[in-house]
Amino acid sequence: MNGISGQTNVLSSRFGRGAADGLGRDLGSFVVATMEVPWGLVKERLGADPTQVLMVENMQLETIERQLESVGEVDTVLGVGGGQAIDLAKYIAWKRQLPLVTLPTVLSVDAFVTPAAGIRRGHRVDYVGESSPNPLVIDYDVLRTAPPELNIAGVGDLLSIHTACFDWELAHMAGASEYPFSQRDVDAARQILSAVMRQAAAIREGTDEGLQAIVDGYMRVNTICLPAGHYRVEEGSEHYLFYELEERLQRPFIHGWIVGLGVHLLSRLQGNQHEEAVAFMEEVGLPHQPSDLEIRKEDLRASLLALNDYIRSRSDLWYTVLNQREITQAWVDDALRTLNF
Ligand SMILES: [Zn+2]
Repeated sequence: MNGISGQTNVLSSRFGRGAADGLGRDLGSFVVATMEVPWGLVKERLGADPTQVLMVENMQLETIERQLESVGEVDTVLGVGGGQAIDLAKYIAWKRQLPLVTLPTVLSVDAFVTPAAGIRRGHRVDYVGESSPNPLVIDYDVLRTAPPELNIAGVGDLLSIHTACFDWELAHMAGASEYPFSQRDVDAARQILSAVMRQAAAIREGTDEGLQAIVDGYMRVNTICLPAGHYRVEEGSEHYLFYELEERLQRPFIHGWIVGLGVHLLSRLQGNQHEEAVAFMEEVGLPHQPSDLEIRKEDLRASLLALNDYIRSRSDLWYTVLNQREITQAWVDDALRTLNF
């Protein structure tokens, strides 16, 4: 499958321009989980009508359970859209033990390659169930209907390899790694990121190769993380800044963009090829500035100054640079001067 060997969550793939055309004719009777905009973009392409269309209302468990109960006898569940629509489809396929087909219309999040569905219980996000797309349908023409900067957001969770692997190495050297350290996994993850970085121009332009580079990157990360049972190679201190900001500001962010801000700041704190990471974000066109994310300078300052204490207050977070290096007022002043507000 596109040269990807090893365990991925994707059982089969249908990749190419026009890959969604006529797809509905292969599904038997099917229910679609989607949202208004993506559904409007693809329904004419499918060549067959679903027996039922479920629009995402919200991801609260009660809502999803109610929608699940309304699903009649069908052969297949088709997810069409971004993360929430795909997650709703995954949840229904898992609960009803039905074949799952996913057709992402944007690459901003990696829901289309992960086995569990993100649902909300109150304010908490939980990842539940296990499902595998068969096939995963990647239609470059469909993806190009999304705003380009949202597809580019997909590189955020691949660029995070840059800071996350460094954090894991720090943890290992400090004798504080939560999991058996694997140099092989770290090297493999860095190769994934290098391959993505080589495609910066294509990703920026939204070419077939650029879109496929993001999909391949996600699938390759899974060949490391699914067998390992954790996402240490792609999640670290850059995500922890995002967690703090999300709790502080109580609003959602475009995930890949805020992870980009995290890579900017935490690669600087790590002393880890900060300029190279920032240059890549500029080259690929990943929005990550506070001005893009509508984060005010005083909020980011407060978040950074609170970050060491925040990670100490959360025993569920892994050991990172934030356990080793104190963020000082002077460091924050210097770092904020490198950002746009
Ligand atoms: Zn992430």
